[in-house]
Amino acid sequence: MEILVCVKRVPDTAENEIEVKSDGTDIERDDLVYSVNEWDNYAVEEAIQIRDKVGGSVTVVTVGDEESEEVLRREMAMGADNGVLLSDSAFEGSDGKAIASILKAQAEAGNYDLILCGAQADDGAGQVGGMLAAMLDWPYASLVNHIEIIDDKKVKVGREIEGGNQELNEIELPCVLSIQTGINEPRYVGIRGIRKVASVDIPVKGASDLGIDPATVGEAGAKVKRLDYFVPELGEGAEILEGSMEEKIEKLIEMLKAKGGLK
Ligand SMILES: Cc1cc2nc3c(=O)[nH]c(=O)nc-3n(C[C@H](O)[C@H](O)[C@H](O)COP(=O)(O)OP(=O)(O)OC[C@H]3O[C@@H](n4cnc5c(N)ncnc54)[C@H](O)[C@@H]3O)c2cc1C
Repeated sequence: MEILVCVKRVPDTAENEIEVKSDGTDIERDDLVYSVNEWDNYAVEEAIQIRDKVGGSVTVVTVGDEESEEVLRREMAMGADNGVLLSDSAFEGSDGKAIASILKAQAEAGNYDLILCGAQADDGAGQVGGMLAAMLDWPYASLVNHIEIIDDKKVKVGREIEGGNQELNEIELPCVLSIQTGINEPRYVGIRGIRKVASVDIPVKGASDLGIDPATVGEAGAKVKRLDYFVPELGEGAEILEGSMEEKIEKLIEMLKAKGGLK
């Protein structure tokens, strides 16, 4: 089975204090520590497990700048066979639809049976997987927390639904699935694994390689224009805890105890 996994390089929320820029155009990106989007890591682990059971290969792909190559290498150290970086100045400032259209071009350049995305990434829209499926005219399932390969034409997928309930579906291949965290336990990536892939060649494809008209992607092609980023005003009864992470945790525990939520 040929599997393509879409991965995004995102600010690591465990390592950074995320702050919104005063002009509201973005978050402060200087000195941020980046890592692979958590959901995508689960998607790559699932792809590796499927490949190990039924054969085939796992390709990881990202749309980003040259620094995004590091997340491809990390996922290759985990066990993905190939990496592809989709990078072009024309892609900068893309909206979700443009990201999906760039990924579609890569999907069509290969011969994939299955495409896995994360359920959501740092911008939190949860839109890329569904749009990619629609553009390819492939079936799609979201919030997938269980995959069983039936044969080379069908897979069984479990989905998390309202109230912690579970749904089981059969879906035809090729398809796109967006993966929920908790579907597996992503393996640890050690220094040895990272070193092993340090010099592996990762192809870089731009708009012309992918047959993409630059006017349809990036800021030029964005049909959703981000107007502002801001911290909402404090509502009544809301309190934002200040201080270091440890201080915030202590305050939170005190508050929960005071309200009877913790004994
Ligand atoms: C400087 C800057 C300017 C931007 N301007 C705009 C704008 O004007 N309008 C607008 O709508 N958005 C804008 N964005 C947001 C950007 O386009 C989002 O990254 C994109 O919309 C994806 O949204 P998401 O993170 O919510 O992904 P989701 O849809 O939540 O992600 C779901 C899954 O899709 C896949 N995926 C998502 N992104 C990628 C990627 N880059 N490469 C590979 N796989 C991916 C992953 O599998 C991920 O788990 C901007 C971002 C930046 C950094």
